Amino acid sequence: MNLGLDKPRGITIKSSRELDLMREAGKIIAEAKAAVKAAITPGVTSKEMDALAEEIILNRGAIPSFKGYQPGPSMPPFPATVCFSFNEEIVHGIPGNRKMKDGDIVSVDFGAIVEGFHGDSAFTAGVGSISEQASDLMKATEKALMKGIEKALPGGRLTDIGHEVQKYSEAKGYSVVREYVGHGIGRSLHEEPQVPNYGDPGKGPMLKAGMVLAIEPMLNIGTWETKVLKDGWTVVTADGKLSAHFEHTVAITENGPEILTRMAGADSASYW
Ligand code: MG
Ligand code: MG
Repeated sequence: MNLGLDKPRGITIKSSRELDLMREAGKIIAEAKAAVKAAITPGVTSKEMDALAEEIILNRGAIPSFKGYQPGPSMPPFPATVCFSFNEEIVHGIPGNRKMKDGDIVSVDFGAIVEGFHGDSAFTAGVGSISEQASDLMKATEKALMKGIEKALPGGRLTDIGHEVQKYSEAKGYSVVREYVGHGIGRSLHEEPQVPNYGDPGKGPMLKAGMVLAIEPMLNIGTWETKVLKDGWTVVTADGKLSAHFEHTVAITENGPEILTRMAGADSASYW
């Protein structure tokens, strides 16, 4: 697969005004994430969660990034505000009438646009009481994201991020999804460069202040291989085992990584 790592052209550097708009999009996403996380309960449908997220995003004057999004002519436009993925679903699940039940884990992915600039962030959470195995997978994925973010430094190289994610994840006994990766973000939801969650360090474009990346490890209990369901969107693990997904939109600054999609005033070591 061509990850475009040899093509540094096209990575946009955001102005301070553009970064401010992305901070605002990030804040709105953080609020929507917190509301959805608090509402995750057995018996509630993923469609209800989608409506809650959409209400917050629209009420804050933003636009959902994913609704109507069509990456190519062969794919149907995405029909909802959030992606909502159950258990072995990795990403891109479509909200519907399925109810969450005790013991599920659910991955929810949010995007919002403020004056033309996107934010993108995801988390996985347990429904009711979950297995120790599921809980450990989620914790490892969240930690893998934070490990990757620590490498989003000016003067570093792009693949330093994915290398760190892979090293941590595999040491914990999990596999890292290869076929879906993080990405640059700004005026478009998906910009150059692709940000894989694996590989050797020290390669790819040099990271610079003003670049903004959506870093998003997906960790599986079994194989890293994936397949897509007949709906054209939902990505599942090839072996049907559990998967978790955490994502933040991160600005590279002279002072280090700035997480744009975290709650204001949150502890710098925590995902939220
Ligand atoms: Mg996302
Ligand atoms: Mg993303």
